Amino acid sequence: MNYRKRAEEIFDYVQGIRRQLHTWGEVGFDLPQTVALIDSELTKMGIEHYPVGKAGICATIGKGEKCVLLRADMDALPMDEVTGLPFASTSGGTHSCGHDCHAAMLLGAAKLLKEDEDKLNGVVKLMFQPAEELLAGAVDMIENGILENPKPDVAFAAHVSVGQPGTTVGRVTYSSGPALYSGDAVKISVYGKNAHGSAAYMGVDAINIAAHIVVALNEIISREIPLDEHSVVLVGKISGGDTVNTTAGYAQLEVSLRAQTEEKRNFLKQRVKEISEGIAATFRGRAEVEFVYGMAPLYCDPKTAADADRYVAQLGYEPVCIPCAGGTEDFTAVANIIPSVMLNLGAGSLEEGHLCSMHNPGMIVNEDVLPTGVAIYCQCATQWLEENK
Ligand SMILES: [Zn+2]
Repeated sequence: MNYRKRAEEIFDYVQGIRRQLHTWGEVGFDLPQTVALIDSELTKMGIEHYPVGKAGICATIGKGEKCVLLRADMDALPMDEVTGLPFASTSGGTHSCGHDCHAAMLLGAAKLLKEDEDKLNGVVKLMFQPAEELLAGAVDMIENGILENPKPDVAFAAHVSVGQPGTTVGRVTYSSGPALYSGDAVKISVYGKNAHGSAAYMGVDAINIAAHIVVALNEIISREIPLDEHSVVLVGKISGGDTVNTTAGYAQLEVSLRAQTEEKRNFLKQRVKEISEGIAATFRGRAEVEFVYGMAPLYCDPKTAADADRYVAQLGYEPVCIPCAGGTEDFTAVANIIPSVMLNLGAGSLEEGHLCSMHNPGMIVNEDVLPTGVAIYCQCATQWLEENK
């Protein structure tokens, strides 16, 4: 079964879908045109499908015991596109993370897998998910049963990658084990007491406390994390105070935390809380630590990653295993429940003149990546079912 050739044969179809989704550039859970198009295409293909959660679609192809999940996200980002492409979005939503490509690739894969339905050794479940950028769409679909009836044995996701060194079309990368860092946003509110500058001893200076917290937080990375591990504790924003000659009654810090494992993530959260509260108490003030939002690190199952490596190689690509990278993904919600791997598909590198990277409103995808994604989705599903029947 040469899915690479067959994926190239349906290039025009996949490109057409991708450009249509791109033009609409719908955001979050509010994807009426996107969902309607995918729904009607699946109907035309004769593929069984149904809505899941607020704006997700689940489709199934084949029958049997074993089940493979293929996931694509569908949402754009709320920004004005500046690519100048003839099919650029004018809606105020821009597909600057390539989710238009993922949804189109998965529809292309659906078409080919439907043609091969009789030969499938199990069920292929397609997950078209909204609101990845809100880190909320996968969780919503899981809460509404996407991982039940049947429960997938394994899951594969694909994501295009643009504007980095070496992200050329045809380059496929993945990680085995830790794949993406966790991400947490933390708000630290520091409460002091106002006093006139000439009687500062009567006040409690929230800015002084905040400054000590900033310095103390640096100790976590420099003294408490082993040399061979990477974590991030970054104070990205600080505000507070009233006037130049008054001790500050209030200050606020916004801190970003990143870690490779859930254990280390919990350690960072605990230490940020202990240090902030401890320092505030030392200087007679008070600190409240709030974890505003967060996502666990993405862990790719090593066995599934090794399988995907072989499948991708059989298509004639040379997959590369890369270390854990920055960024967060809500595919993590799936990967926390079933063995999963995420494949990164090069779609235009810095060297090739793709100067705008992901989430930049000028980001341009090289559409030659589309058949790569279609072929990889098909190969991963069919071959995994064949080897695990
Ligand atoms: Zn994305």
